[in-house]
Amino acid sequence: MSQAPVISIVCPCFNEQEVLETFTSKITDILSTTGYTYELLFINDGSKDNTFSVLKKLQGENRHIRIINLSRNFGKEAAMTAGLDQALGEVIIPIDADLQDPPELIHDFLLEWKNGYDVVVARRKDRSSDSLAKKITASLFYKFHNSIAQVEIPDNVGDFRLITRKVVTAIQLLPENQRFMKGIFSWVGFNTKVVEYTRAPRAAGETSFNGWRLWNFALDGITSFSTVPLRIWLYIGLFISFASFIYGSIIILKTLIMGHDVPGYPSLIAVVLFLGGIQLVGLGVMGEYIGRLYIESKRRPTYILEKDTSNEKDAE
Ligand code: UDP
Ligand code: MG
Repeated sequence: MSQAPVISIVCPCFNEQEVLETFTSKITDILSTTGYTYELLFINDGSKDNTFSVLKKLQGENRHIRIINLSRNFGKEAAMTAGLDQALGEVIIPIDADLQDPPELIHDFLLEWKNGYDVVVARRKDRSSDSLAKKITASLFYKFHNSIAQVEIPDNVGDFRLITRKVVTAIQLLPENQRFMKGIFSWVGFNTKVVEYTRAPRAAGETSFNGWRLWNFALDGITSFSTVPLRIWLYIGLFISFASFIYGSIIILKTLIMGHDVPGYPSLIAVVLFLGGIQLVGLGVMGEYIGRLYIESKRRPTYILEKDTSNEKDAE
């Protein structure tokens, strides 16, 4: 492709060998009916399976495909950042490889883009394709995050969206290397349109976000966009000090009026353990932030390309 395409599809892939062929043929069908030029940008995020060779094979059959190969698994957020950095299009559409984000929606995206929106997000109507545990934890996360963070991330909105070049340029201004994309997308703003869809179950393969990884993802989100968990300790501390002052005064008064009291071991140990626990939680929260500060202060790049092809002339 000698000229920059209008649409860049950005698709991070981690162990997606089973689904890539179906994905590519489905999305190609849809893109070819839009009337715009396009590229399919796949980011191989250090897959352990044959994702890379499958991509290479598909590239041989489809001249719209570009592949970015990361030097190891950096995680979806980093892979997407790599994709946004390398995308050439006027509008960029990040999408999952597993066909959970329906490519048909791209038509609606483009329509709203033509109506003048810089961001068109896809919101899932319900979470029927998720397990009960995921539904509950996701809803708790959004509630908690949105009540303490400066920018809200809309409920049930993933990374599947259309953004214009202007938005990508804004995103690239954010220097942090631990990137919580949902938050970053919201943070940069721009006039946004929401379109709704029903999320399908994975077409093939397995999700790589389970239990522990989702928990850490949630922590990343909260610590990236809010300092409330750090500041709340001032108030917890004040409250406990105040309560213990009142309690202490009561004990002194009681002793003065009623004489010597028999010291109570159970209440004493309960208070000691309670305070010890509270202090450890406070320290732990601080640790979360300090750990992130430490990593951020090293100024390491978000991802490493296995081979940088960004400046190479296209072979065709
Ligand atoms: N992904 C990635 N790197 C990772 C994990 C996931 O690039 O370390 C990609 C994955 O290939 C898929 C997308 O991110 O295209 C969403 O992942 P997944 O379907 O596992 O997440 P879920 O849909 O369960 O949230
Ligand atoms: Mg998925």
